[in-house]
Amino acid sequence: MLTEQRPVAIVGAGLAGSLLAALLAKQGRQVLIVERRRDLRQVVVAAGRSINLALSTRGITALQLAGVDDLVLPLCVEMPGRLMHAPSGALTYQPYGSAGQSIRSVSRRDLNAVLLDAAEAAGASLRFETTCEDLDPDSGMLTLRDAASGALEQVACDFVVGADGANSAVRIALRGRGHLTDVETTLEHGYKELNITPNDDGSFRLERAALHIWPRGDFMLIALPNPGGDFTLTLFLEVAGARGFDAIAEPAAARAFFEEHFADALALMPDFDEQWAARPVSRLSYLHTSTFHAGDRALLVGDAAHAVVPFYGQGMNASFEDCTILMQLLDAHEGAFSADLCRDYTAARKPNGDAICALALGNFIEMRDKVASPSFLFRKRIEAALHALEPERFIPLYTMVTFSNRPYAESQERARRQDGWLDEALSRIGCSLEQTDQDPAAIAPRLLESLPLPH
Ligand SMILES: Cc1cc2nc3c(=O)[nH]c(=O)nc-3n(C[C@H](O)[C@H](O)[C@H](O)COP(=O)(O)OP(=O)(O)OC[C@H]3O[C@@H](n4cnc5c(N)ncnc54)[C@H](O)[C@@H]3O)c2cc1C
Repeated sequence: MLTEQRPVAIVGAGLAGSLLAALLAKQGRQVLIVERRRDLRQVVVAAGRSINLALSTRGITALQLAGVDDLVLPLCVEMPGRLMHAPSGALTYQPYGSAGQSIRSVSRRDLNAVLLDAAEAAGASLRFETTCEDLDPDSGMLTLRDAASGALEQVACDFVVGADGANSAVRIALRGRGHLTDVETTLEHGYKELNITPNDDGSFRLERAALHIWPRGDFMLIALPNPGGDFTLTLFLEVAGARGFDAIAEPAAARAFFEEHFADALALMPDFDEQWAARPVSRLSYLHTSTFHAGDRALLVGDAAHAVVPFYGQGMNASFEDCTILMQLLDAHEGAFSADLCRDYTAARKPNGDAICALALGNFIEMRDKVASPSFLFRKRIEAALHALEPERFIPLYTMVTFSNRPYAESQERARRQDGWLDEALSRIGCSLEQTDQDPAAIAPRLLESLPLPH
């Protein structure tokens, strides 16, 4: 039968696309993955130029499903907490979760390479330097352009998954045919990535086991460690205006800005001026899409469906979770891609895409501003003490989002109830968050006695 000869096509061999290709090909399906860039496994990355991502439980769950967690986890650097750098140089540490819980810094390139190897080993066909130009979701006809020759080709597919990132050509094709609407919102803040190289002996120049944050109100610098001993730094700052990237475009102005706000980090970058001049400023945006599928032949995963701002470290994790849920739904639908499966996929993923989008925006304010506040950190310590006493009944939001597979929307809703409860219980026992020298472990039982926990 003709349909059986048609592949399931995945557009985009980034993180979600290559993972999904591995998962589908492992089931013995004929999988074709098309990627507009060169094969990143053939491209040499200059030392100290790696870009890293924070991997957490949802991502690891998907990697386990694909059987590649054993290959990826050794590539990671564990970050059990965040280390805040005050303008004075003083450091404050806050654990992310309970003992043994860490987020993990992993190189985007190395992770993607593992996933491409897994997809290939499972039997997927990979076509690089091939751009998706269009998709007709009614017929499953993909229009592809070969980068070398410029030639167009039509490929008839059984089913098409758009895993082609925030500017997804698949999504644009579905929108153009009236299957969905989308709204992309660009933040006033952009970002620039820099690097701190290792010491001559290969050791780290900053504490290795932490995500570093320099919170400065409406802007911030962060640094994540890489296994090679270097750190990837990201400055988040408004693009325009007197205090934005535009105003410090020249290295001398940027150096003065760093001397004022990030002197300890600047001291670790002897080549700051060259880095500053060479690195671009990128924009940040997030995306709302009305539905993640079209009919019975096409759906979207990852950033193509729900790009989020990076402040919760969940964009990739959410994208991987899309793949986990899609595979569960395929099982529930006896392995068949169908209109029902597509509808169930949107029903399962859209509320969670919306939730992580809102949570990520909220976390920007937490990271750049609130983590510098002693009363905010004190409240977090109280939450940790409550969690230690009632691990199943009081779970901090960060723990639910980062260290569990509980759906994002459910986590968001539960956290709202817990927040309301904590405000009320604190007022009942007359506890002020300004008195940060109190012992959270002594306060937590009093809170629990004062008011029943919400369900
Ligand atoms: C600064 C920053 C920091 C981040 N940090 C984190 C973090 O710590 N943790 C986390 O979980 N997430 C993080 N993210 C988010 C994460 O990068 C994304 O959510 C993730 O890359 C999404 O994966 P994806 O496969 O959907 O898209 P992508 O990784 O963007 O992959 C899309 C692929 O499709 C290809 N493509 C595009 N168009 C076409 C076309 N027309 N034809 C063929 N191929 C095409 C692209 O070349 C690319 O390879 C961060 C994002 C940013 C910007």
